[in-house]
Amino acid sequence: MVPIQMVDLKRQYAAMKDEVDSAIQEVLTTTSFINGKAVGEFAKNLSTYLDAEHVIPCANGTDALQIAMMALGLEPGDEVITPSFTYIATTEVIALLRLKPVFIDVDPATFCMDTNQLEKAITSKTKAIVPVHLYGQAANMEEIMRVANEHNLYVIEDNAQAIGASVTFSDGTVRKTGTIGHIGCTSFFPSKNLGCYGDGGAIITRNALLAERIRMVANHGQSKRYYHDVVGCNSRLDTVQAAVLNCKLPRLDAYNASRGKVATFYSNAFASNPKIKTPLTASHTTHVFHQYTLVLEGVDRNALVDQLAEVGVPSMIYYPVPAHRQKMFSFLNLPEVDLPVTDWLTERVISLPIHTEMDQEQLDYIVKHVNQFVQ
Ligand SMILES: *Cc1c(COP(=O)(O)O)cnc(C)c1O
Repeated sequence: MVPIQMVDLKRQYAAMKDEVDSAIQEVLTTTSFINGKAVGEFAKNLSTYLDAEHVIPCANGTDALQIAMMALGLEPGDEVITPSFTYIATTEVIALLRLKPVFIDVDPATFCMDTNQLEKAITSKTKAIVPVHLYGQAANMEEIMRVANEHNLYVIEDNAQAIGASVTFSDGTVRKTGTIGHIGCTSFFPSKNLGCYGDGGAIITRNALLAERIRMVANHGQSKRYYHDVVGCNSRLDTVQAAVLNCKLPRLDAYNASRGKVATFYSNAFASNPKIKTPLTASHTTHVFHQYTLVLEGVDRNALVDQLAEVGVPSMIYYPVPAHRQKMFSFLNLPEVDLPVTDWLTERVISLPIHTEMDQEQLDYIVKHVNQFVQ
């Protein structure tokens, strides 16, 4: 059996080696490492794929979130509502800009922002909502946009884990995640559903004025060369990464479909295990399974992780400590924040290997051992 990994980038590369090698070679030959042809092409390709007018590539997903908040003109003290049950980048940039993260709980079935908590969290200082499409499925964007419109708030989607997923609204409109809020942010970290061979990210918007502002912030606040209108940063997707992404984008739907097959196989295999709750796909969204995450009940999770590791099955806890319990936020004095679902999930989730190159032998092996250890 091929050794099991959480993500197997070697096999994925092997399947398109010639194409990727020649795309990278072309960048080397032209030596236009910064803002080369592939960067503009990729922005255009992604814009077409997502059906959103403006895609601004940048250096990584964390930068994308930071630039989005800067471009919206959020100011120190402004409140930003976001889940605590997420990767730290989402909330870190809020604090970095001296905005105030206001953490709300998640829905135990979807792991995404619990929209019932949303209106209660709004104050006169609230400026934005940052939903996270965690593990690959969309938060309840219809409700989030309704609340945001009613209270005049910006919505920045953290779409780092859900590129390619879509949302169906009650009027029948279908939109890709990352194109629904005012701004969408994504990451091309190698293990993401659309990953490059280093760091990369992008900011997405349908609003031309915002797009202009985002471009300016990402490029030293520059309006024209050597004229700097606002304090910005330097965040670019390099040409080599864009060349890789141009090879991988046409494969994204197939990649997501193969992740979906793995998820279906796992869920069927665990369906009759009373101690395992398999992930649910909410009716408003497709799920692109960036992670396949189980909720365990009455299981010694650490022992399970160790037992699986012993037989060569890696697993991960995403995430062992929610944002509101991170030391980084102790300056916020948050003891009164009560997020029972987040705390409950933090102690019970476990993610199994899922990627685009898993074979049946590996899958059979994994479910056999999980079901054997969890009884
Ligand atoms: C990966 C990730 C990010 C950050 O992306 P980087 O490219 O690593 O900076 C942000 N939010 C979420 C939810 C992520 O999974």
